[in-house]
Amino acid sequence: MADPKGFLKVTRRELPARRPVDVRIRDWKEVYEDFQKPVLERQASRCMDCGIPFCHQGCPLGNLIPEWNDLVYKQDWHGGIERLHATNNFPEFTGKLCPAPCETACVLGINQDPVTIKRVEAELIDRAWQEGWVKPQPPAVKTGKKVAVVGSGPAGLAAAQQLTRAGHDVVVYERAEVAGGLLRRGIPEFKMEKRHVERRLDQMRAEGTVFKTGVNVGVDVTAEELRAGYDAVVLAGGATAWRDLNVPGRELKGVYQAMEYLPVANQVAEGVLAEPTITAEGKHVVVIGGGDTGADCIGTALRQGAASVTQLEIMPRPPEARPGHQPWPTYPMLFKVESAHEELDAAGGPRVYAVNTLGFVGDENGDVKALRLVDVEGPETGFKPIEGTEREIPAELVTLSMGFLGPQKEGLLEQLGVELDGRGNVVRDLDYRSSVDGVYVAGDMGRGQSLIVWAIAEGRAAASRVDRDLQGETALPYPIPPTARPIA
Ligand SMILES: Cc1cc2nc3c(=O)[nH]c(=O)nc-3n(C[C@H](O)[C@H](O)[C@H](O)COP(=O)(O)OP(=O)(O)OC[C@H]3O[C@@H](n4cnc5c(N)ncnc54)[C@H](O)[C@@H]3O)c2cc1C
Ligand code: SF4
Repeated sequence: MADPKGFLKVTRRELPARRPVDVRIRDWKEVYEDFQKPVLERQASRCMDCGIPFCHQGCPLGNLIPEWNDLVYKQDWHGGIERLHATNNFPEFTGKLCPAPCETACVLGINQDPVTIKRVEAELIDRAWQEGWVKPQPPAVKTGKKVAVVGSGPAGLAAAQQLTRAGHDVVVYERAEVAGGLLRRGIPEFKMEKRHVERRLDQMRAEGTVFKTGVNVGVDVTAEELRAGYDAVVLAGGATAWRDLNVPGRELKGVYQAMEYLPVANQVAEGVLAEPTITAEGKHVVVIGGGDTGADCIGTALRQGAASVTQLEIMPRPPEARPGHQPWPTYPMLFKVESAHEELDAAGGPRVYAVNTLGFVGDENGDVKALRLVDVEGPETGFKPIEGTEREIPAELVTLSMGFLGPQKEGLLEQLGVELDGRGNVVRDLDYRSSVDGVYVAGDMGRGQSLIVWAIAEGRAAASRVDRDLQGETALPYPIPPTARPIA
């Protein structure tokens, strides 16, 4: 246990400061300032090493949280990263980007602020990279088996790293020009700088994983060719089919999906594009969708110099404290103030709840210039419009961040003929096998739009099942069973 009285002595939860808003919106760098090691070690001492650590249950990876809190408190950072890497291939991705369901399950959180688990994780891996403790781990023995992984997001990367380390020859196919999936082209630089992804890819290449980017499987290589050329195929293509908004004026210029807008900004931040092909500069921007993707659009638009930004959400404003029906240790739906929301507040931009979009209004050139909206009652009443509340707001750039409808069906999935569930995701059994022999599925492609931590957990678990099926036994850990129903 870190310090038996730690949680009594250190009652205040501390996190690193965010850089001042007016400074950080002038660049694309991450928003957090450095955190002092002694402060973090003090924070780690608050962990009570509970007899039943609910944080383990909260974390889909089953991270050994009390163990690495204890090691950090005792200043054994090297031991801490070893323990963290035992369950998580990429703690820098989760340490920076995870919504931390572990913290909402932390026992201390019942009557105090929970332990800063996510921050300990982020600082542990940052220190490990700085100290040179993160090294390639090529396999000692090769199996002679070949595995193809389709998709290089967190699920594909985790599966590929585990299988490469188990001795298989692994090739990752990615249709984008660069590997990383949403970590690379969806999530903005100010949430996680892309150098973190590149550094991991270098480690994986040094271990023997081969990346073939710019290859769209189902177009450039057929599904049959892939199956014939490999002993196993892992599908990790994500949930890329976006939800659209079919209202009058949707066809106007200036109305984009978030995943049309954000990748362009990321390419500029990475230096791949000199100028953005879509920009918020000088425009009145409306972000439709109150979730994390919407927040990413807000932060991006403000950095591009938007004249104003407004966020719209059809659901009512969530509560600031746990409502009775979302008790500890569940993950509650609360009103969040992410860094982008703080920036929005500073810019005077509103977050408008319980409104629906009726349509877009265009000018004589076919460019969007306004958005018509109405207040709604709901969700119980099915978002019934409230009479007399219709109005128009200026909108010269609109981003749609309303979620995703599962994986893309045409091409790869159609060619394979895999069974899909009622929500359009690829059906897998408890061993991550799809309905097609030798084809497995992990991450958003099987569970629908989700989180990075789930993608890594599923990638690791699927790798363990592939390895067992190829070799008859496996030493790879199997973190969690999938929540998907087995194939009938
Ligand atoms: C804008 C945005 C922000 C987000 N922010 C967060 C966050 O802060 N925290 C969090 O936990 N989650 C976040 N998420 C969700 C998270 O990014 C996803 O749950 C996660 O990336 C899923 O991982 P994946 O590996 O299953 O798929 P993805 O990351 O989507 O990767 C799939 C990859 O497969 C490739 N691919 C697909 N089909 C083919 C094919 N036929 N041939 C070759 N390649 C193919 C795609 O190009 C893509 O690169 C965010 C999502 C979005 C859209
Ligand atoms: S991966 Fe997420 S849930 Fe797991 S310990 Fe880290 S922050 Fe918590």
